[in-house]
Amino acid sequence: MSSLDIRVDQRPDLTPDERLAEILANPGFGTHFTDHMLTVEWTPEEGWHGARIGAYGPLTLDPATAVLHYAQEIFEGMKAYRREDGSVWTFRPEANGQRLARSSQRLALPELPVEDFVATVDALVGVDERWVPEAAGEKSLYVRPFMFASEAFLGVRPAKHVTYMVIASPAGAYFSKGPTPITLWLTEEYTRAGRGGMGAAKTGGNYASSLVAQQEAMGQGCDQVVFLDGQEGRYVEELGGMNLYFVFKDGRIVTPELGTILEGITRASIIELLGKMGHSVEERRFDIREWQEGVTSGDIVEVFACGTAAVVTPVGSLKWDGGETPEVAEAGELTMRVRQALVDIQYGRAEDTFGWMHRVV
Ligand SMILES: *Cc1c(COP(=O)(O)O)cnc(C)c1O
Repeated sequence: MSSLDIRVDQRPDLTPDERLAEILANPGFGTHFTDHMLTVEWTPEEGWHGARIGAYGPLTLDPATAVLHYAQEIFEGMKAYRREDGSVWTFRPEANGQRLARSSQRLALPELPVEDFVATVDALVGVDERWVPEAAGEKSLYVRPFMFASEAFLGVRPAKHVTYMVIASPAGAYFSKGPTPITLWLTEEYTRAGRGGMGAAKTGGNYASSLVAQQEAMGQGCDQVVFLDGQEGRYVEELGGMNLYFVFKDGRIVTPELGTILEGITRASIIELLGKMGHSVEERRFDIREWQEGVTSGDIVEVFACGTAAVVTPVGSLKWDGGETPEVAEAGELTMRVRQALVDIQYGRAEDTFGWMHRVV
């Protein structure tokens, strides 16, 4: 049980029904936000306190606020799904809470207990329940919990005033016409993480360092960038915000091992799902040459990326300076089966044998 006492101040000027219907008909991603936001403060003396839900709106920050200078910040990303019967559910929220706690350890931020994390997400989704779109068309309410150094101080040390917030934004289907294979660019210049670095933490800094490589990818006509390990520049890590899977002709399935990559909850769930489907997954180092040669020779028959936003995304081809793999025009069979199995559990259309779903409303 959470010991947070969350005060709720419902705003009187809610988004009118008509306007809300308009937004939910075509929510896009990350542009519209719900009527409320949740805030909790932390200080060494008081611990977590002042939990409240109030009107969504801008923050007023002192220009010396530590996060703006030293990037002491972490976040989470998850979704609330509405079922046919109107009920609203989240997917493995404890896993997000545990990951936020691990990220906070790496960034020297205070740990928010997992039960408090789940309580804050439940509270905001509950108050803004009418912002959770209908199940049709794979829409959802994207929930973004985050924590940052809010102390106004330019000295370099862990902040003594920290703010945790939860905001939410309705999200449309990632693919409007069903999953389309994406093209990937292999960056050999930039890496996203090194040994002892922040690769396994969900922190804005990792995204900041990925942007220039992502720009390079777009300049090469690709959708996303692939990072290799920082030490040898040889082993496949992940994309800027998605993990990778490789399916071999002989049935073997490989995903890069944990360590410097982000521990995706989608990645972990797929290992369990595939296990139930009778496939075992090898978590190991995966040499970039194994990818390049495997797809070219036909040993690797499917490649897909995964993460909360797009669930499972087929990979069509990989390009690098001096070459590219043959283009795959359609999503693979196993890719689509895994995707469907996951989405069906999330929307309550298949039995949740793993006990992953958590009812909010
Ligand atoms: C969030 C994230 C993922 C995907 O994690 P999920 O829990 O599956 O959404 C993968 N890579 C990075 C760098 C991320 O930040």
